[in-house]
Amino acid sequence: MTKVYLKAKISRRIENGHPWIFQNEVKTVSDTCSGGEIVEVVTADNKFVGKGYINPKSQILVRLLTRNRNEEINEQFFYNRIREAWEYRKRLGYTENCRLVYGEADYLPALIIDKFNDYFVLQTMALGIDQWKGAIVEALNKIFQPKGIYERNDVPVRELEGLTQQKGFLSAPFDPAIIIKENGLHFHVDLENGQKTGYFLDQQDNRRWLHAIAKGAEVLECFCYTGTFSVHAASYGAKSVKGIDISEKAVGQARRNAALNGLDSVCSFEALNAFDVLKLWAREKKGYDVVILDPPAFTKSRENIQKAITGYKEINLRGMQLVRPGGFLVTASCTNLIAPDLFYGIIELAAKDARRKLRQVTFQTQSGDHPIIKGIENTQYLKFLIVQVE
Ligand code: SAH
Repeated sequence: MTKVYLKAKISRRIENGHPWIFQNEVKTVSDTCSGGEIVEVVTADNKFVGKGYINPKSQILVRLLTRNRNEEINEQFFYNRIREAWEYRKRLGYTENCRLVYGEADYLPALIIDKFNDYFVLQTMALGIDQWKGAIVEALNKIFQPKGIYERNDVPVRELEGLTQQKGFLSAPFDPAIIIKENGLHFHVDLENGQKTGYFLDQQDNRRWLHAIAKGAEVLECFCYTGTFSVHAASYGAKSVKGIDISEKAVGQARRNAALNGLDSVCSFEALNAFDVLKLWAREKKGYDVVILDPPAFTKSRENIQKAITGYKEINLRGMQLVRPGGFLVTASCTNLIAPDLFYGIIELAAKDARRKLRQVTFQTQSGDHPIIKGIENTQYLKFLIVQVE
């Protein structure tokens, strides 16, 4: 097996368990090897570190799959890891819908598998994991006997690995427009054309927090996508719910979701730019009892972090201005580049500018089917904050 020798001074990140080995952390590679091959990573003095897959074309040269010298990387390995990931979800009660495999946090770097009841959506975002797609599908078939498996590899990060973007069936074709049940409500999910894997499972626990604040409230949700928070608010007894999203398609799906739950008389949705309307409505002194903001990641790179901070500050400032005294702001951020403390700091700055006082109701992260590993900093990404705005 090809050996990858690390430089004499090993980064703390690798020592602390992070599975990525960057090109600039490596001294030499014993042979020329092709992308995807399983290699052994050792220290400069030849001590075993782990085994993983290599991609000479990628900045991340190796992603470790195991730190156990005796563990073979073969079909059985993938079956075992997926089985373990499933046991973990079952133990925590995430059985119907869940992120079944959350990449690095399940020791399967660059692999995402979302389970939507009997349907599975898969993303393989590195060459070395892509090559095991057959084994992964086989394991899913064995463990779950799914009604369908769909590949959503239409993600640009694959190009950094020399992979093409693609999507399609990994099982016999099926209708990818499905309905899932969450918190007792029903939602249309478009596995083929929905954003990411079709649905944001990471907020499934947080959506229940609306129970505490939505009753009798006039609610505004910006960046509503398919209206999941809106429909929850309506089902928890909101007086009215207005959801907006820039995507016409998302808004259409949100309307269908409200109707599916018999809540279309309470909810209305419109395709609008949140930045424009938040500013306009704040100027017009409109008021809501609850304002929900769950925007997309405003940046994917550290260089643009300031742009993201400005974006969060702007929408949260306007959002607060729209909250009636004593009402609630529900605000989220889904990029791992903004740490929880920084996010909170931005919200506090916005409150200062808006001359409003905040009282924290709760500060959460992603749901438990997206486990966080402290040494692997990018496993924590979601911030979900509810504050009362006085
Ligand atoms: N809360 C949703 C997920 C929101 S994802 C859920 O839990 O399912 C972010 C959404 O913001 C996307 O649907 C995207 O279309 C929308 N979006 C992006 N930029 C926007 C803008 N400027 N104005 C309004 N919506 C925007």
